[in-house]
Amino acid sequence: MATGTAAALDQLRTIFPNKVVTPDIESEYQAAVATPWSQTCWTPAAGYMYLSNVQELTETLAIVKKTGVKFTIRTTGHNPNVGFSSADKTAVVLDIRQLQSKELGSDGVARIGSGSTWGEVYAWLEKQKLSAIGGRDQQVGLGGFLLGGGMGALPNLYGLGADGVRNFEVLLADGRLVNANAKENADLYRALKGGGSNFGIVTRFDLDTHPLINVQYTINLYNPEDYVEINKATMAIQNAMENDPKGGLFTNSNNGFVAVGLLYGDTPSERPSVFKPFHNLKSLVTTESKKRAICTITTKVSQELYDDVYKSWTEVCKSLPTDYVLHYTIQPMGKAGVQAGKDRGENIMGHESIPQCWWVFTCEWPQEASDDAAAQKAVDTIAERAQLLAKEKRALLDFKCMSFATASQTVLGSYGADNIKRMQETAAKYDPEGVFQKLQNGGFLLRDNI
Ligand SMILES: Cc1cc2nc3c(=O)[nH]c(=O)nc-3n(C[C@H](O)[C@H](O)[C@H](O)COP(=O)(O)OP(=O)(O)OC[C@H]3O[C@@H](n4cnc5c(N)ncnc54)[C@H](O)[C@@H]3O)c2cc1C
Repeated sequence: MATGTAAALDQLRTIFPNKVVTPDIESEYQAAVATPWSQTCWTPAAGYMYLSNVQELTETLAIVKKTGVKFTIRTTGHNPNVGFSSADKTAVVLDIRQLQSKELGSDGVARIGSGSTWGEVYAWLEKQKLSAIGGRDQQVGLGGFLLGGGMGALPNLYGLGADGVRNFEVLLADGRLVNANAKENADLYRALKGGGSNFGIVTRFDLDTHPLINVQYTINLYNPEDYVEINKATMAIQNAMENDPKGGLFTNSNNGFVAVGLLYGDTPSERPSVFKPFHNLKSLVTTESKKRAICTITTKVSQELYDDVYKSWTEVCKSLPTDYVLHYTIQPMGKAGVQAGKDRGENIMGHESIPQCWWVFTCEWPQEASDDAAAQKAVDTIAERAQLLAKEKRALLDFKCMSFATASQTVLGSYGADNIKRMQETAAKYDPEGVFQKLQNGGFLLRDNI
């Protein structure tokens, strides 16, 4: 039997003549390469397969298995780690964006094809005066966001995106299409809530919906020289959020400004008191690059740490060319958000029940600039320094959020020994031949991420 990339593409072309894009179809191929949101992932693959439905995906996966070709699953390509939803000439990209079904059950559960973006889902649900826990950016896809945990705008009010999944419809390596929920395949259900693409391809997410609420959303820009007061206000809000889960916050230290997102899951006539610490700051100022590198750590809440990281960040910024922007964001996660996950049957990420900060360090730089390594080095350096500072202050937590991690970070290994064992057992049970470990091109995979 013929195996390898060429054999796989031949077989796919025979069965699906109009769905395979290879380098000989020049313009379509270039468009396929340049589809990911993250330009770091514009790497030419051996071929691109555009799947319209689950049947086609099932047949494609069977050919992948038979020929032993490497593959990767792609929706929007928002994950900037090279090879996670992209590939080189040795592998085939399975593009599932056309899995677009949307159905609202009488139980209020929204059954949504895994090719959708959050913008599409929000617009559709809004017509029914409903919403779901999704990404803060409309272009992000459901797949990577929900399988990686998923930090929404108001994590303490509803928990993480993964905790809002009532059921996953999953295509397993042996071709079976199964449901994973609290009653059926419960081990798989839990493993998928943060365990990434280790167990199968999710074809549909069934999501809890919430009545549409009006949300206050302000982004203020502050003068970075005021960083001590900004960090003090950030801390105060994080503390206040422990008592008022309607509050949401991000503090993004950027090139020349600090952007603070103040979100509130209600529209009281008075400004929410939870945000008071930011109202009086005097440093308020009045505002697309897509090549990016990221890195993450998780810490306890500590003003001293926030201030020291800020100082360290200003130092690292100096090492970069002027058109490279290194910035970082403080993302609070509170006890209520962690509890929401526990109340919904536990996820696989092993969060501690304490107020915490999910940091994301990001570098963005122009497509034409060639020194990609400098950007990655900058995020790695600031993340390492922040980690050291946190360790010194006994504020470092193990958890690393998949959505914000760079490829070399041990994400699955940060979930704790019990959860690692759970994921390994689940993978062995649902994918005994190890197809998702051996043939998947990249990702935070059990084969090398524990
Ligand atoms: C501008 C921007 C804003 C963001 N905002 C947020 C935010 O508010 N909150 C947050 O938590 N994260 C956020 N992220 C991070 C984002 O959630 C991750 O990058 C996520 O991996 C993107 O998922 P995707 O499906 O859109 O992208 P892709 O890059 O296509 O997929 C990401 C990974 O998931 C796998 N995958 C995708 N779909 C499936 C599936 N159905 N079955 C199995 N595996 C699958 C892919 O193989 C790949 O490994 C943001 C990122 C960017 C660039």
